[in-house]
Amino acid sequence: MQSTAAGFLPPEVMASIQKGFVTMNKTIKLSNNLPVGGAYKQCSSVTDFDVVAQRFSHNVVFQLNSIFMTELASYKLKGDDFEYNMERLVDANDSILDRVYNNIDCVNKGVEPNRPTDNAVIGPGGYYRPKITKIQVGDTTFTAARNITRPQLFFKDQIDNTSAVWVPKIKEKPNNTKPLALERIYDEDGRHIGFEHPYRIELDQFTPRPEWLTYDNEEPAMPPAVTETNFTFVSDEKQLDELVKHLLTVEELGVDLEHHSYRSYQGFTCLVQLTTTAGDFIIDAIACREYLYKLNEVFTNPNILKIFHGSDCDILWLQKDFGLYVLGIFDTYRAAQVLNFSIKSLAALLKRYCGVDADKTHQMADWRLRPLTPELITYARTDTHFLPYICKKMRADLIRAGNGDPHLLEKVFKRSQEVSGRTYTKPAVDQNSHLKLYQNSRPFNAQQMEALKRLYLWRDEEARRMDESTSYLLPNHMLLSLAEVLPRDTQGVTALCQPMPPFVRQNVEKICQILMSCRQVHLDDGFGARFTAARLEPPAPEYAVHDLPHEEDEDDRVDVALNGNGALHRRMDCYYQVSLPDIKIFVMEDKSENAPPSVFMPYYFVPPFVRHSNYRIIAQPALLRRNAEVRVQEVQEALTAASSNVAGPSATPPQAQYRQNNNKKWHNKKKT
Ligand code: AMP
Ligand code: MN
Ligand code: ZN
Repeated sequence: MQSTAAGFLPPEVMASIQKGFVTMNKTIKLSNNLPVGGAYKQCSSVTDFDVVAQRFSHNVVFQLNSIFMTELASYKLKGDDFEYNMERLVDANDSILDRVYNNIDCVNKGVEPNRPTDNAVIGPGGYYRPKITKIQVGDTTFTAARNITRPQLFFKDQIDNTSAVWVPKIKEKPNNTKPLALERIYDEDGRHIGFEHPYRIELDQFTPRPEWLTYDNEEPAMPPAVTETNFTFVSDEKQLDELVKHLLTVEELGVDLEHHSYRSYQGFTCLVQLTTTAGDFIIDAIACREYLYKLNEVFTNPNILKIFHGSDCDILWLQKDFGLYVLGIFDTYRAAQVLNFSIKSLAALLKRYCGVDADKTHQMADWRLRPLTPELITYARTDTHFLPYICKKMRADLIRAGNGDPHLLEKVFKRSQEVSGRTYTKPAVDQNSHLKLYQNSRPFNAQQMEALKRLYLWRDEEARRMDESTSYLLPNHMLLSLAEVLPRDTQGVTALCQPMPPFVRQNVEKICQILMSCRQVHLDDGFGARFTAARLEPPAPEYAVHDLPHEEDEDDRVDVALNGNGALHRRMDCYYQVSLPDIKIFVMEDKSENAPPSVFMPYYFVPPFVRHSNYRIIAQPALLRRNAEVRVQEVQEALTAASSNVAGPSATPPQAQYRQNNNKKWHNKKKT
């Protein structure tokens, strides 16, 4: 595909985009020089300044209104109601971006744009029929959905987000050598802090079956493709009973889970995927939530091998949601560790052993969605489909690596079992929890620190009460900016929280109150130093999975590259961007010798589709270099054309200044 910028868009369109971009850059640069805050007020008392500023701000409103006319006819900005205007702007931006994403998707597939249904409709099983939005960023497809009924509403079990100790859900204990008894654990001060693993004794007694420590000389047969394999979707008790009956007849099975943690405080499991010699199975873990305990018959049977990849979370989720425990586990991630593979992700193993190019891009899909789309089903099946085969291959590799001795293989079983011996505990916060957000930010004074702490604790409390994730209510980067800037009014808060999460919108006043109360804290100079120590500690593992990749290895992360205007945060809610600059006018290109060939020119506007195309050809450096050369030429031409058409300054409201300062801050941080 010829995908130079010039090749894709007609030259006159491209030229006009570039001209607009250059004009915009200049405008923003100039508006940075405008006075803000108190200085602005002072200047306004000079009539000449005030008249000019008013005229510009009316111009801006007028121009925006004329854009809205073509976009959302019902939207109209009001002369000087900043808050009202800001909300309209955000909504309009959302709507425009939605359309862009949709159109990109349609161009990709060569289909007509999908008109979303207006209102959610109750579908079978009490679910709403949600509006599905597919968002394509580079090669990555996010499947997000709106109007999903909160499945928690239908859970039979009570969700307890209080700080009370988590009580294991297990009611029956199949495959036991010691009958079920929940044993309490106490700390040194005699406080009850949890319960012992219900299968502790059985775990201690466990040894892998002898045949698991050997391998067939015969090459295992590579499994047929997912499309050539039987598939069963299990969504009620009867089907689950059938499945358990089948599972009790097999020797081994691949297991994986999909979990949702964005619109819930502790999260819940949405799917359980299994693969046996009979094919792939997906259990609807929302519909079967109250029956899934029945899998303990299989999962705690030490003679049936359960194969996971990276089971850390899965083990805890199984306990949390269903009271399920695992005895007889082989974790292919641990096997990759013991084999010293540099990349240990499932995708890497699939490539290595099966020659399959896995696409992990649906990992962050909203797994609450029902019915599942065919892509999501294929994705979920692929996560377990090859596990039994990979396990066989890895067992052979481990024995070979041990020169015929199974000690490495035993090590893998031991490490895997160490994981399945962990127990779930509820996320806990204390008076220092906010410090883990503080790791990478600039030194805070006492007031900023107090704000960080109060906001953090308040957000956590609300998230527990509403059963939402803290990231959904108020993402970490916004919380940090609020604490750092300590805005004095609602406009200041609004400017820092864009796009504005619904929770923030409903609580702007409250947030202002919290921040103002922190300004009462006495500023003392030695304060910052006391917290420097906390910053030097390695970053603590972050509970908010939506703010940090959760895998152990750097190299296992699939980064979503959305270059040019900033990286999209890796999570299902793809509407929120990390606070990166909207326009990279302050960034210079890396001209050093070792710099990778520049794909995206900072001073150059890259339209979404071109950006998308660039991402696809990222593996073709030669082509990229050629494109870059073409672009340098184009930029030069555009600049020459634009220099004859210099834009005048426009009034930037003080709120925009907040935002720009914030952007600069990010760059400073980036450089260090
Ligand atoms: P996987 O085993 O790769 O299919 O991942 C299982 C579940 O882990 C997904 O359904 C997500 O809920 C969650 N997950 C995986 N990677 C991430 C991540 N980087 N951030 C947050 N959640 C994740
Ligand atoms: Mn998994
Ligand atoms: Zn998975």
